[in-house]
Amino acid sequence: MRIMELKERVSKAVAERASLDGMRRSFETIEARQRENARRIPDLEDRKERLCKIKESSVGNEELFQEAVAVLRSNGFRVVLARTAEGALRAISDEVRDHRLVVKSKSNVTKELHLADHLKTQGVEVVETDLGDRIVQLAGCAASHPTGPACHMTRQQIAELFTGHFGRPISDDPAELTSVMRDEIADYISRAKVGITGANAVTAAEGAVVIVHNEGNAAKCAMLPDKHIIVTTPEKIVPTLDDAVNVTKLQTYLSTGKIVSSYINVITGPSYTADIEKKVYKGMHGPKEVVIVFVDDGRLDAEDKEAQRCIGCGMCLLRCPVYNIIGPVYGSPGHMGGQGVHLAGSTGKLDESVEGGLYLCTACGACTEVCPSKMDTKKGVIATRKKAREAKKGEVFDHTIALSSVRNYDNPWQVPRAQKARWSKGLDLKSTGDVLYFAGCSTSLLFPENASKVVTILRSVGVEPAHLGQAERCCGSTARKLGDDVLSREKAEGCFKDFKEAGAKTVVTSCPGCASALSRHKDLREKYKVDVKHISQFLGERMPGLRLAKLEGLGALAYHDPCDLGRELGVYDEPRRLIESVSGAAPIEMPRSKNQSACCGSGAGVRTGYPDLADAIALERVEMARASGAKTLVTACPWCVQSLRECQKGCGGIEVLDLVELIERSVRSDRK
Ligand code: SF4
Ligand code: SF4
Repeated sequence: MRIMELKERVSKAVAERASLDGMRRSFETIEARQRENARRIPDLEDRKERLCKIKESSVGNEELFQEAVAVLRSNGFRVVLARTAEGALRAISDEVRDHRLVVKSKSNVTKELHLADHLKTQGVEVVETDLGDRIVQLAGCAASHPTGPACHMTRQQIAELFTGHFGRPISDDPAELTSVMRDEIADYISRAKVGITGANAVTAAEGAVVIVHNEGNAAKCAMLPDKHIIVTTPEKIVPTLDDAVNVTKLQTYLSTGKIVSSYINVITGPSYTADIEKKVYKGMHGPKEVVIVFVDDGRLDAEDKEAQRCIGCGMCLLRCPVYNIIGPVYGSPGHMGGQGVHLAGSTGKLDESVEGGLYLCTACGACTEVCPSKMDTKKGVIATRKKAREAKKGEVFDHTIALSSVRNYDNPWQVPRAQKARWSKGLDLKSTGDVLYFAGCSTSLLFPENASKVVTILRSVGVEPAHLGQAERCCGSTARKLGDDVLSREKAEGCFKDFKEAGAKTVVTSCPGCASALSRHKDLREKYKVDVKHISQFLGERMPGLRLAKLEGLGALAYHDPCDLGRELGVYDEPRRLIESVSGAAPIEMPRSKNQSACCGSGAGVRTGYPDLADAIALERVEMARASGAKTLVTACPWCVQSLRECQKGCGGIEVLDLVELIERSVRSDRK
């Protein structure tokens, strides 16, 4: 798929986002159920910690893998390691042999392999037995949640689908919908000689396969046919059954809100009896043969194995701003959202990663906050972009222009350098000094008046800031997020050299993107002995001496945490304290705030490459503010301000203010 096709798919999904209302409602239901049941899982955080340790020690652990294989074999499993996707498909086809019908339960890796399509070409019918998967199979659409694949469809849509499928009227009564499909699936299961399932975990010590499900279908696929094929991946191996139970408990709670799933099957080999003359006969009540196919396909050799820590709970999807708008358009085959594009990219499938939306991630980091494995998908996506750039894959034209502009003009919009410093005309700023104001390209060019306001604010606290004028370079943030590490580092290092030459000890910026892009280079900060602070941090430290007049008539204010300031730099309190000083009341906390903040849609090149997606994400955020009763939404980032204002063009609504605008008003009014 070419990039233009992806752009079209994204635009179409954005335009038709109402069709995913059902998915978003299901997401809310999951979170509501989690809140309801939270007290029943008091050790949730300990379980997450334990999961991180398990994944740390087991993902990519060849020794553990070999141990698991040996114990599985001694338990009577036939074990196949398929190094490639093609090898896996060949191995599974060989196992299915001349059978024409296969019943299957949920398994992401079979979707990654496009197994059903492959077997179809061999004349084998694959019937999904999970109701959601069966619905999606019949509808020919993509699954929208790992454990609720059809959660984007309404029961009316499902009834219509079933009516067409069964050739008779089926009502939208869930009892009828489940009953007709249960009967059909039961018939398929009774006839199938081969059942395929995935595995939620495989344990090395016991050589056991653990399968979790609610419908009971996976047990039937595993137990009733003569042959059970388990298709899974090496990263599903954990040391012990206790560890596997921890995985399943977390997965169930996070994906459904339930404390425990209806069924947990532990399979340690084929069915057998020794009741006749003490001789072993296989296949008494269950399958004679149990085959486990480990699909490697780039996993064991991957340099970056972080995406393999995923347990498929889907929490990241609930919070991902991109997924919430465009659903399964974002993700790689079998793996939804950012984790999917990261997994594909880190296992050598760059094309799949790019086509799945490598450049759609806003790098907001919201997914990491809720991921039980603490996967840093944002970092993984940026690393994958780096690889994609090197391989010359997937970058949209606007990103290429932005990067070349950063290189040549020190801003992403090809604006001549001289223009960047226009705001400072007449302010009589010196070029050297202890405290240097770094305006950054977004403030200088999008909101130049705010740059002057920062100077007013700094002067009001007795600080006469230095400024580099038109020599101010780009901080490297855009380049980093688009995957050009070399350019990003080069720009940041250039900045630090300039700071040193200007005699600066502290650099203050009003852009969290600049603050985080510069601060992350600890070595440069130490080498040049320069500290970088966001204006809210700088003022926060001076709070007792800060003379801020209370502004009247502001109305209800909510504060939007910019991702780069909050999750990236951990600055949450200072902007709130400043708002409280100016308005006389603490800002309204939206349901998604602080480390759980929702994204403004602007980050990591999304507004540049996919403006309609950025607008849709920003609008969601504005709606959250409005729903919380706010009349004004204050934030502390020029990119967020731009995005949150831009999305409201033509529809009016809530006022969006940069924190510096609010403080400058207060400073001015204090002088009167
Ligand atoms: S990346 Fe994390 S949050 Fe997302 S599905 Fe995997 S384990 Fe769950
Ligand atoms: S960083 Fe943000 S946009 Fe990217 S995958 Fe995570 S939640 Fe989605």
